[in-house]
Amino acid sequence: MYTARNYIKAESLAQAHELNQRRGNAIIGGGCWMRMGERMYDTLIDLSGLGLDQIQDRGEEAALGAMVTLRQLETNFMLDKCFGGLFRKCTQHIVGVQFRNCATLGGSVYSRFGFSDIVTALLALSCQVELAGAGRIPLEEYVKLPRDRDVLSWVFVKKDGRPVAYETARNSETDLPVLTCALSKVGESWRAVIGARPGSPRVLEDSTWEGLEKQVLALEYGDNMRGSAKYRRHLAGVLLKRCKEQLEVSGV
Ligand SMILES: Cc1cc2nc3c(=O)[nH]c(=O)nc-3n(C[C@H](O)[C@H](O)[C@H](O)COP(=O)(O)OP(=O)(O)OC[C@H]3O[C@@H](n4cnc5c(N)ncnc54)[C@H](O)[C@@H]3O)c2cc1C
Repeated sequence: MYTARNYIKAESLAQAHELNQRRGNAIIGGGCWMRMGERMYDTLIDLSGLGLDQIQDRGEEAALGAMVTLRQLETNFMLDKCFGGLFRKCTQHIVGVQFRNCATLGGSVYSRFGFSDIVTALLALSCQVELAGAGRIPLEEYVKLPRDRDVLSWVFVKKDGRPVAYETARNSETDLPVLTCALSKVGESWRAVIGARPGSPRVLEDSTWEGLEKQVLALEYGDNMRGSAKYRRHLAGVLLKRCKEQLEVSGV
């Protein structure tokens, strides 16, 4: 469990950003991941007074605040309707409801874990993240950057109506995934995202289904306590086909 000498409820994003530049300080989201460690922080910076716990329908895009919980993502009607249940499917296996009521979108996206269900799912859509310092950048770019001291405030998801499907394999219901897979179709182009390889999610695009399958099977997979590279490669092919079947059911 972490400890902290000081706690500040930020009054503005600018203040949160400034405070976060000091080594030893950190933003706290739900604290679910941070509590797994033993770190001693100087100041924990709380964003909960900044209105970032909202999911907003802004016409052409959905705006998701950094303090939105995984449970909010799972149960939001607008997200369910606009993204074919993607947010429900990518959150429902994460630990349990009480956990999902605490863990935040900001903590999940900032952490950029290789196993992240959330990042895998978001990468199948057209997303941008807003950072207090660096401004808006595509999520695809953000996931490749090292973790720095910027503050993630919003995630914007384009409501472009693309069909999207999500599948995951776990050794037991609430364990971390052995593999994550999201599939979408933009015009005539397929877009697959494979995560928990166990490295960071990879985005693959191809104009043909055969080409996409080939790319997915050719990806680099690794071994860890949850599965071997060989098993993961096999799973990737299976989950990809299941995603395609989901899209076919919805008329693609
Ligand atoms: C036991 C366990 C099982 C899990 N299983 C899964 C799983 O199956 N699938 C999955 O996808 N995820 C899983 N996760 C990860 C989880 O979903 C969250 O990603 C994680 O808890 C982080 O969210 P949080 O709000 O608790 O972040 P915190 O613990 O509060 O913060 C995590 C990190 O993010 C930083 N941070 C938080 N918010 C911001 C912000 N707005 N801007 C900048 N930095 C920020 C913090 O400083 C810290 O470094 C699991 C986590 C745990 C602890």
